[in-house]
Amino acid sequence: MKVFKFGGASIKDAEGFRNVKRILDFYTKDELIIIVSALGKTTNALEQIATAYINKTGEAIGLLNKLRAHHFEILSSLLPENHPAFDELNNSFVEIDWILEDEPSDSYDYIYDQIVSIGEMASTKMLSAFLNENGMKVQWKDARDFIKTDNNYREGKIDWDKTERNCQDKIPAILKQGWMLTQGFIGGTTENLTTTLGREGSDYSAAVIAYCMNAESVTIWKDVPGVLNADPRYFTDPKKINELSYKEAIEMTFYGATVIHPKTMKPLQNKNIPLHVKSFLYPELDGSVIRENVVNENVIPVLVLKPEQILISVSPKDFSFMDEENLENIFNLMVKHRVHFNMMQNAAISVSFCADHIPQRIHPFLEALSSQYKILTNDGLQLLTIRHYNDEVIQQLTANRKILLEQKTRQTIQMVVNS
Ligand code: ADP
Ligand code: ASP
Ligand code: MG
Repeated sequence: MKVFKFGGASIKDAEGFRNVKRILDFYTKDELIIIVSALGKTTNALEQIATAYINKTGEAIGLLNKLRAHHFEILSSLLPENHPAFDELNNSFVEIDWILEDEPSDSYDYIYDQIVSIGEMASTKMLSAFLNENGMKVQWKDARDFIKTDNNYREGKIDWDKTERNCQDKIPAILKQGWMLTQGFIGGTTENLTTTLGREGSDYSAAVIAYCMNAESVTIWKDVPGVLNADPRYFTDPKKINELSYKEAIEMTFYGATVIHPKTMKPLQNKNIPLHVKSFLYPELDGSVIRENVVNENVIPVLVLKPEQILISVSPKDFSFMDEENLENIFNLMVKHRVHFNMMQNAAISVSFCADHIPQRIHPFLEALSSQYKILTNDGLQLLTIRHYNDEVIQQLTANRKILLEQKTRQTIQMVVNS
């Protein structure tokens, strides 16, 4: 069986839904498990609703109504007026209404997952109804019955044993009746509470299910022709890489190439399951394949840019060295405040980190550090990573830019630069 994953960009409007149907028409002879994300930028909108609710800004219900109306508008152009899917879609959004009616009392991360997961519930109900209405035999399934996680909300860790058992026990019978369609990005705890797997986690969901079912391949359908040597949003004239090893794809995505969720590759590598990245706009084209044993692995420079970075330099106020004890202290605070650093460099009495500038996390982290350490920050920066670099590329990309921090290995150079 094959696992397909359709991301938000592929179903951002009614035409997107029709296009997904056209793609699936090519695969009627295959056994498919179809994983689907929320429509377009729905997850961002749901995040705003969760934040407005927690902060009691009074905006949550207005934002929710706007998002709900947008979903209904799309469904209205896909299905006849009295189709039961309208009620089902409404039921998904009503779950958020219920949350908003009460005072926020649970933790932000828990509330976040209960609200944000509705994006995937809604999109999968819509797509499943649309495909069935158009003659495809698709069974909508609740991913929380298969994908089990711990209760680390917003970043649920997969319970591999339980997930594998659920998949193997239930999915073969489902596939005898037709295709299975389920949500990416979400999972359930043993108490059946909803968790999410981290932003952009639907690619990872596809890999988890493929691993558990020993799938023949995974295909993620994107708005780009495949994996490129640079993000087209930031660099001109990127080139498609036809074949990559798992290792190269892990490295690229680890450094910030957002085309695939970085956790996606490892489970697939463990079972040698190829990962295809294909264009939903040009499905007949080959795309890229990520697999083992790639001969003549690409050696062209791969460019990765992480925007919105902050450089934080920390030194002990008591002039002690930046030793293991100090580092342990700083790392513990990072874990506590969920600050993720992308590059680190230490010296005798200081350590510098380049991190994603997420103010809700960075501010409390700096606050917690400030009693013991002297802190310097520099924001509005970018982290530029070049794999398989050469002098010419470095020159081109850093001309007229100030490099604040630099690290080089044989394969990779990373530079924190001003934007
Ligand atoms: P999805 O619809 O599955 O959520 P994403 O939008 O998350 O898809 O991923 C596709 C996007 O990834 C592209 O539009 C592109 O801007 C970005 N991207 C970043 N790095 C690369 C790369 N190296 N190759 C291709 N696309 C890239
Ligand atoms: N909808 C989720 C997000 O936007 C998961 C995904 O698209 O992969 O983060
Ligand atoms: Mg995405």
